[in-house]
Amino acid sequence: MQTYLVDQALLPHGWAENVLIEVEPEGNIAGVGAADLADAHHAERIHGVVVPGMVDLHSHAFQRGLAGLTQRLPEGEASFWGWREQMYAFAGRLQPEDEAAIAAQLYVELLKGGYTTVCEFHYLHHQPDGRPYADAAAMSLALHEAAMEAGIALTLLPALYMQAGVDGAPLGAGQRRFALDPEGWARLATTLTTVFRDDPQRRLGLALHSVRAVPAAAIAEAVALARAEDAGVPIHIHLAEQPREVRDCLERLNRRPLAVLREANEIDAGWCLVHGTHLDAAELAQVAARQAVIGLCPTTEADLGDGVFPLSEHRAGQGQLGIGSDSNIATEAAAELRLLEHGQRLAGLRRTVAACAEQPHCGTALWALAAIGGARAAGRPAGRLAPGFRADLVVLDPEHPSLAGRRGAWALDSWLFAPGQPVRDVMVGGQWRVRDGRHPSEASIARAYRATLARLLA
Ligand code: ZN
Repeated sequence: MQTYLVDQALLPHGWAENVLIEVEPEGNIAGVGAADLADAHHAERIHGVVVPGMVDLHSHAFQRGLAGLTQRLPEGEASFWGWREQMYAFAGRLQPEDEAAIAAQLYVELLKGGYTTVCEFHYLHHQPDGRPYADAAAMSLALHEAAMEAGIALTLLPALYMQAGVDGAPLGAGQRRFALDPEGWARLATTLTTVFRDDPQRRLGLALHSVRAVPAAAIAEAVALARAEDAGVPIHIHLAEQPREVRDCLERLNRRPLAVLREANEIDAGWCLVHGTHLDAAELAQVAARQAVIGLCPTTEADLGDGVFPLSEHRAGQGQLGIGSDSNIATEAAAELRLLEHGQRLAGLRRTVAACAEQPHCGTALWALAAIGGARAAGRPAGRLAPGFRADLVVLDPEHPSLAGRRGAWALDSWLFAPGQPVRDVMVGGQWRVRDGRHPSEASIARAYRATLARLLA
């Protein structure tokens, strides 16, 4: 058992000072409590402000390699759909070793940005021409290996992808390597379950790309398959990201995307609806009542011109949410939460939207909400510094200029809403992965990443 004595920590009931955190060798928190300083002499002292590690509930790791390369006026449509063509062109060049090198770089960056778990919404399954690799799980295993190398916890969500649109059109050339049906997911799950075994840092889940890419019958079949093996399996789907997706559903199926999904399979607390930007008030109430988690990816949603999620309405109904890095144009948890809050202020002409009487600090309100919602979406006991949860800790450096003179809630507000990146140490499942702002493998991982991108973009 390892014991830490922490200056300040965000606990489930609020901020506390001089906190003892006991961590079991397997990486779970055994106890959290006020320090009896007579007992604390054997503890490792952590000077700083400690918050539970954030879950990145939505990542497409390979898109890290494309970050910054889609900002030029395109020849086609300057929209999400034009960006998607650029993304397909990049995705079409990647082999498993490229995916592994890009993902390892991303995962180091995510750790340094305050994330301790990443959910990979994974759809690059096959060779670029659509034929399976000799090892059909090669691309999934590349993500697993990258997560091992970086030391981040991984919830891997292989995604079903079966058609180009709600009309059932066949996959386009750029989509062939994404093809996966319920049987294909089950085969992949068999392989990955064996590889992950009882590793507490790994979780297998199910992703359904969207109601446009997966027919209703296949959604129901895949959910039944996955839940037969694992009743608590996390299930993710992109939903209502773009107005065109809503329009297509209405035109072809005479229903909005959420209704299409709920008819295929009722949602519940095991579901994560990614984006949800264009859900209307009645739909938000249904999502909140079913306790499904909304997965918001503010920097990507801004980059792609998706729109602004109606946060106040969602929170008024006690809706759950988490954050994701999605296209990985930003890798700091603070950047996602800041933009989430700022988007609300710009659209609603008011301040401190996420704060409320029970939690008047925006930073603490946002962090706690997203950590808990993210952990649920990841299917992991994480997101809280409490017994039985994973020992995933982010330590903010009290010596960093952005935290000068600040403690507790003021320090977290200052990380999220002031300049600077004060993350000093990051622990995942009881293991330090970042210390003094450095990851032990960052130089070799960056070298491999640079070589990979130089080759891919040559
Ligand atoms: Zn996505």
